[in-house]
Amino acid sequence: MSQIYEVIIIGGGPAGLTAGIYCARARMKSLLLEDISLASQVLLTERIENYPGFPEGVSSIPLMEKFKEQASNVGLEFAPGKVEKIEQEEKQEGNLARVWKTTVDNKVYHALSLIVATGAGPKKLGLPGEERLTGKGVSYCAICDATFFKGKDVAVLGGGDTAVQEALYLAKFASRVILVHRRSRLRATKILQERIMANEKIEFSWDSLAKEILGRGMVEGIRVENAKTKKEKRIPCQGVFIFAGYLPNTAFLGGILSMDESGYIITDENMSTSREGVFACGDCRKKILRQVVTACGEGATAAFSSQQYVEKLKGVAYK
Ligand code: NAP
Repeated sequence: MSQIYEVIIIGGGPAGLTAGIYCARARMKSLLLEDISLASQVLLTERIENYPGFPEGVSSIPLMEKFKEQASNVGLEFAPGKVEKIEQEEKQEGNLARVWKTTVDNKVYHALSLIVATGAGPKKLGLPGEERLTGKGVSYCAICDATFFKGKDVAVLGGGDTAVQEALYLAKFASRVILVHRRSRLRATKILQERIMANEKIEFSWDSLAKEILGRGMVEGIRVENAKTKKEKRIPCQGVFIFAGYLPNTAFLGGILSMDESGYIITDENMSTSREGVFACGDCRKKILRQVVTACGEGATAAFSSQQYVEKLKGVAYK
């Protein structure tokens, strides 16, 4: 059997990197597996304004680079790759019966414990035209694509924090932003609501259910239905940005851990999952608030729980 890590962390966003910093500082033999094709949600946001210690806000890319530098400095190992599955190894190594096997691009890594921090990705709405026009005017990432819409009209779908924050960002480039929401009020935090209401470039289409994204080669508009009157209208635009929430990146677990109906991992307050030695933290976990600051706190807790688990397994727990 290849060398056995004490902990393998799956995912390199705020939760995984914080877990990595804490595990490495506990002098656990720690490896972080990072799927570089799967950008952490935080990197799709231009600025983070509610991370304590940065009254002016902080750009997400440099902040994440600092997290990574700090983790590397204390000895966290990194390896790239998409985890395909995790399973419990039957073999015994010394007296350690429970070893987790992680398969990454046909390579196998072993660990006494795992921390799953794989985050979540944008939810698709499944509208007619959505898939066909993705990359041709339909986008799920304002920071990636906003510059293509300089001087153009764009629609933003959704009414949560992401939709509002990204509509504000898009308004720096587009000539007009139409926020299309299925209700007559926003779900977003009040401070973001105040800001969007004050932005003259942003208009609202309330009680509007998107029915279809229109366009032959490129986006030409969207068709929406009024939720109350059932009347339909067309909103001409060249871009459609969809921010309808997220879905967890947990399919690779193949149901090995207890999850809710949407696939979010269920943990206790110590970040323990339904399987011994496996912990979860960050946006892939079932919880009420998805923020960088909550991801970090959970990463630290998961690391400490993993440390306690491994020490108990090895019979070296500090009692
Ligand atoms: P969210 O809070 O789940 O909001 C998703 C929005 O999309 C809701 O307004 C929802 O409408 C709408 N929606 C969902 N499915 C839809 C459908 N089929 N058709 C039409 N509209 C649909 O997701 P989010 O805004 O991406 O935020 C996710 C988490 O990240 C939240 O915890 C949020 O606080 C956090 N976040 C925080 C910040 C920040 O603090 N600055 C920034 C970004 C994200 P309804 O309102 O009718 O359900």
